[in-house]
Amino acid sequence: MSAPSSPSPATAVLTGLDAVRGWAADVYRDLHAHPELSHDEQATATKVAERLGASGIEVHTGVGGTGVVGLVRNGEGPVVLLRADMDALPVAEATGLDYASHTTAADAAGNEVPVMHACGHDMHVACLLGATHLLAASPGSWAGTVVTVFQPAEETGDGARGMLADGLAALLPKVDVALAQHVLPAPAGLVGTHVGPTLSAADSMRITLHGRGAHGSMPQASVDPVVLAAMVVVRLQTVVAREARPGDPVVVTVGSIQAGTKSNVIPDHAVIELNVRSYSEETRTSVLDAIHRIVDAECAASGSPKPADYELFDRFPLTDNDAETTKKVAAAFASYFGERARPLPMQTASEDFSDIPRALRAPYCYWGIGGIDPATYQKAEQAGRIAQDIPVNHSAHFAPVIEPTLDTGIQAMVVAALAWLAPPRADEQ
Ligand code: ZN
Ligand code: ZN
Repeated sequence: MSAPSSPSPATAVLTGLDAVRGWAADVYRDLHAHPELSHDEQATATKVAERLGASGIEVHTGVGGTGVVGLVRNGEGPVVLLRADMDALPVAEATGLDYASHTTAADAAGNEVPVMHACGHDMHVACLLGATHLLAASPGSWAGTVVTVFQPAEETGDGARGMLADGLAALLPKVDVALAQHVLPAPAGLVGTHVGPTLSAADSMRITLHGRGAHGSMPQASVDPVVLAAMVVVRLQTVVAREARPGDPVVVTVGSIQAGTKSNVIPDHAVIELNVRSYSEETRTSVLDAIHRIVDAECAASGSPKPADYELFDRFPLTDNDAETTKKVAAAFASYFGERARPLPMQTASEDFSDIPRALRAPYCYWGIGGIDPATYQKAEQAGRIAQDIPVNHSAHFAPVIEPTLDTGIQAMVVAALAWLAPPRADEQ
């Protein structure tokens, strides 16, 4: 008679999930009710550090502002970095949930704004705390080191860079792989992976166009920046239509245009703000170059008294999932989740997670988990009303259903991490 086969490491580690689910859901509801804006995640960071401490692991706080890092050291073996973001958004919650946020806070400009976890980062934190606890509680099932990174300020695109600038790398052993997940408006219980460019690079640009102010009745004395700005906006439409390769997804949106104060005064400047989304560094560079070329040429055509001023802000890197890494994650998901593991379509959103593995020279995979009640989703799908009835991230109505989202997010983190972590040494089994 052969010996019974031992359960897979993922099954062994996840047997503890029944004992974790309750407190992880409590953590989630608490974070959801008490969201904090980007760079202001103090109470969230304190709660995260306390919970990591309760799991008995090494904790570093105040990394890049409010960032928290946990290390589960469990002998020789691969080093796996798991990341969750912690910040919320200036949105007035309209979910009507009994744990809905009623919080307000001062934003970066000092204005009092409503605050809501409208992007599901509270779910990411709860899932990663649960996964960290389970891995720390079952050292006999794996070997290596798990690094958990709780990152501030994803929504402003600079939280990951802030942690790196504050010495994140020096806290860590050499990282072999970095993994992160995001809750999406898809049925809860599903996990999705995508090889290659998955989230777009994003760049915002503020362009100040200089004219010469004059009386509205004396245009001959002016260089009219209103007309100049209008020409720029129209001509910028040709970047995507006439310069981008058909099939290469790229977006150029002028979201703001400001000039003048009065109908009979020609102002002396105009300011336009635009946003670019792209899926390759090559396209990103050529689009930004085209914008400069067009603006400079329109300024010359108008006789602008001085060159335009350019300011880049809210920049997000391209999230470009490493092929080998992502195939390994997808295989682990297929084996654990079965039919619930799916391909993920390319997303138009952006993320700063990849700044961390890029700086650490580690391959990475970023995947999606569903957050919508499956029955609600199916009903909307059957009615052909997904766009109308299913709230998306950043909507005042977006809040993942706690289960099965929480279980799935915890399981996904554990399963993916264990695809790298070594089996335990024979004498520890
Ligand atoms: Zn977001
Ligand atoms: Zn987000």
